[in-house]
Amino acid sequence: MYVDSHCHLSFPELRERLDGILADMRAAEVSGALCICTAMEEFELVRELADAHPNLWASVGVHPDTEGMTEPALEDLLERARHPRVIAIGETGLDYYRLEGRSVADMAWQRDRFRVHIRAGRELDLPLVIHTRSASDDTLSILREEGAGASRGVFHCFTETMAVARAALDLGFHISFSGILTFKTAAELREVARFVPLDRCLIETDSPYLAPVPHRGKTNTPAWVPLVARQIAELKGMAPEAVGEATRENFENLFGVQVPALA
Ligand SMILES: [Zn+2]
Ligand SMILES: [Zn+2]
Repeated sequence: MYVDSHCHLSFPELRERLDGILADMRAAEVSGALCICTAMEEFELVRELADAHPNLWASVGVHPDTEGMTEPALEDLLERARHPRVIAIGETGLDYYRLEGRSVADMAWQRDRFRVHIRAGRELDLPLVIHTRSASDDTLSILREEGAGASRGVFHCFTETMAVARAALDLGFHISFSGILTFKTAAELREVARFVPLDRCLIETDSPYLAPVPHRGKTNTPAWVPLVARQIAELKGMAPEAVGEATRENFENLFGVQVPALA
């Protein structure tokens, strides 16, 4: 059994064909998926997915790239995160990749938003789903300043260096690998995956994005998460099923849920 720790089933291109995706997941032995929220306006859709399906869960949070939508106050996050199907805060973090003419100093609003999310996670003891791009130093120092190690979480869609992986692990965080791990150009990332202990690894699709090889460029779904497990298995010299089982167990321990067995 495999679990997709990060997908966007609330996005229209996936939501519109949810029944087919759930059937594909069953056929691929993908027994669960965490549906990630990227905007307060999206939360109801994410929560509805988790309410309607025992093998889907929800997060609540506003993505660092989300602009021009509702800015969440601590209380807004707490209120939604108290729902029993909400098992994580995020995705949250920092993204300096698209500064669009702004300086890092101009991105104080991202750092403020990130801190609000960390405080929500700490208050409710819910793990954080961290998105970091071109901003790993600030991401790590804010996590440390806010004492985020206490509520733990996961660095999702990991594409950072070995040094960042070490720092994330030292903080008590898990590291989640996506289809990027299967891309030809990702040799350095594969070394990172070889290094990260299996009991701290998660797997994800980040669907609809980042379809793994041999589906690269297509619309991704959670049914393709076993291809990420297969890549990790190859790197660690194990069976893909063993990576599936280990990452499912890690998912259950980190998020405090039990993934129902496939019917
Ligand atoms: Zn992300
Ligand atoms: Zn995402």
